[in-house]
Amino acid sequence: MPELVYLDNAATTKMLPEVLDAMMPYLTDKYGNPSSIHSFGASCNAACDEARKKVASVINAKENEIYFTAGGTESDNWALKSVAYMKKSKGKHIITSAIEHHAIFETCEFLARDGFEITFVGVDDKGIIKMDELKAAIRQDTILISVMYANNEIGTIQPIREIGALARSKGILFHTDAVQAYGHIPIDVEADNIDLLSASAHKLHGPKGVGMLYMKNNIKLTPFIHGGAQERNRRAGTMNVPGIVGFGKAAEIAKKNMAANGAKLKEMNYYLMDKILKEIPFSKLNGDRDKRLPGSVNISFRFIEGESMLMMVDMKGVAASTGSACASGSLDPSHVLLAIGLPHEIAHGSIRLTMSEDTTKKDLDYTVGVLKEVVSKLRAMSPLYEDAVRRKEA
Ligand code: PLP
Repeated sequence: MPELVYLDNAATTKMLPEVLDAMMPYLTDKYGNPSSIHSFGASCNAACDEARKKVASVINAKENEIYFTAGGTESDNWALKSVAYMKKSKGKHIITSAIEHHAIFETCEFLARDGFEITFVGVDDKGIIKMDELKAAIRQDTILISVMYANNEIGTIQPIREIGALARSKGILFHTDAVQAYGHIPIDVEADNIDLLSASAHKLHGPKGVGMLYMKNNIKLTPFIHGGAQERNRRAGTMNVPGIVGFGKAAEIAKKNMAANGAKLKEMNYYLMDKILKEIPFSKLNGDRDKRLPGSVNISFRFIEGESMLMMVDMKGVAASTGSACASGSLDPSHVLLAIGLPHEIAHGSIRLTMSEDTTKKDLDYTVGVLKEVVSKLRAMSPLYEDAVRRKEA
């Protein structure tokens, strides 16, 4: 048995040793404040500028289009709230999708309570946004479209270029939450017609608590955090120098390895999903088979309760998840799985397995063995399963 199989990389990733090495001087001797004029400050400021270049280059952005934040949640809040309040004289209508992360969902709920109107566009059974519904939702008073690049639960990648082109043709700002996609799949903000993009370092082997908002050069959002003049007067607060330097290093490595890691993890996707679907009866893949993030698999098992399954696989050394890091722990089935049309009872029996480039086939074989054992144990305790067997459904 492998010591521990970590298959929860969509929740967070292990920091790379090179990232820690790059950060170390800024956690020790290089402790200056980048806003200070003296040499301590200047060298830290230069390190942040260097990181900004690296972070920008992953998505074909210019360095002055990157604003560092404290993570994906802050970037999402900033994008939505600032656009809403800046553009409210033009209109108060925002379009988003039914499968966004809570960082977008809850921000939309907040704005709805403050008089904005939100349209949640549906997705098909693979989790891909319905373009016809999106087009039909656009109104004179629509000020923003926000659709995630790739989904954190089922891994489905959205037709971002098409959505961006549509938004641009209508003169509507387009934001994408690319927290799961940034550094993992190619993104080109110019070709994709993206105005605003959120990313977070800890999803690509960088440190936690640091992220960025990409803001296209002609767009100047009002600050979300008020205070000092940091980040060209747009994001106040002393800069998180070690975090930003770590983000830069993680971005540089992610860009260099993206093609190779992507190809390897795409193959691992097929390996894992095919093995589960073949070896465990009454299992179903959630999300699109091909248009999905490399290293991301989500499966539902009938007659199973997800939380029990997670606890039991954890006891066997497999760390997995039922959905988004924040949603786990709640008893409500995932809004993403419901949006792709799963009935409650099947949505409850789902597991998300997200790999990193360190994951091996041996890890996956072990995981499938554990899942087989756990699923059959839980089904043996399920009156519904027994009933279905009796009625020859199962
Ligand atoms: N958006 C998506 C799609 C995510 O998956 C996450 C984290 O799971 C976030 C936003 C929030 O990012 P952070 O953890 O950096 O606040």
